[in-house]
Amino acid sequence: MARLIDQLKGHKETLKPLIEAAATDRLASTLLFAGPSGVGKKMAALALAQSLVCEKSKTGACGECGSCLRIERGQSESLMVVEPAGAQIKIEQARDVLQFITLQKLARSRIVIIDQAHLMGPQAANALLKSLEEPPAGTYFILVTSMAASVLATIRSRSQLVRFKPLSNADLKAILGADADEWVLASAQGSVEVAKRLLDERADFEALENATGAYINAAVQRFPGDEITDLKELMKDRSTHGFVASLLQGMVRDALKGESPAFKNVSPQKLETLAQRSLEFESDLARNVDRGLVLETFAVELGKTLR
Ligand SMILES: [Zn+2]
Repeated sequence: MARLIDQLKGHKETLKPLIEAAATDRLASTLLFAGPSGVGKKMAALALAQSLVCEKSKTGACGECGSCLRIERGQSESLMVVEPAGAQIKIEQARDVLQFITLQKLARSRIVIIDQAHLMGPQAANALLKSLEEPPAGTYFILVTSMAASVLATIRSRSQLVRFKPLSNADLKAILGADADEWVLASAQGSVEVAKRLLDERADFEALENATGAYINAAVQRFPGDEITDLKELMKDRSTHGFVASLLQGMVRDALKGESPAFKNVSPQKLETLAQRSLEFESDLARNVDRGLVLETFAVELGKTLR
């Protein structure tokens, strides 16, 4: 079980064309893995990295050679994983990357995974632009983000976008086991990370779900005052922000399928506008804008769109 792709739930169809392209040296050297948080994008990046360094097979990792094993153990000299130091990916980290990619290659490829690429600041991005556009031979960048729209445009334009879907309920159940009941599966929106939180703090998240429902239902009719106060109180940290955002996105998705009572009689065109806005809602919260203000603004725009 040292082939990472075997440990990955879902996303096989997303990875297959990339691994095939790699086997014939046609893989884009800079990829942007984008999709909801907690669905396994980073694991998928590691699985791809493994297939890029494998000593035995070019058509997918063998899982057994030294290069494959070192990737699995997080000890590979051919892989650098960059994560934000605090709230940002800093210029010093970009310089470390530049140094790493000038070293002599020890396997047939060298991979840099940049996690939470939307947190790359302009300085770090500028330092990396040239390398992202034209990396040294055999060097691959895999940028990972749950907020592709917030990744700097200069970076996005140099990357091939690879979209990751939420996990299916069957995949979630396979990961989480019997504990994952209908409510958890429905509320997790295909994210393992969210599902685990839901299981641990069920009562808190049920309250959050109720408050979000009350906020939306009110906003459809009028400006929600008390509802914003209640919801704001419960949105303590980033994962609660993500949860509320995914509830909103889920409600709009259901509405587009004609399945949401809150949005009945709303034209598909208006719903598309709302769908777009509900995606921005999450980046607004992530940018640390005052969350009460984000809720107020969204309610006003919802009102404008619907009334
Ligand atoms: Zn191998």
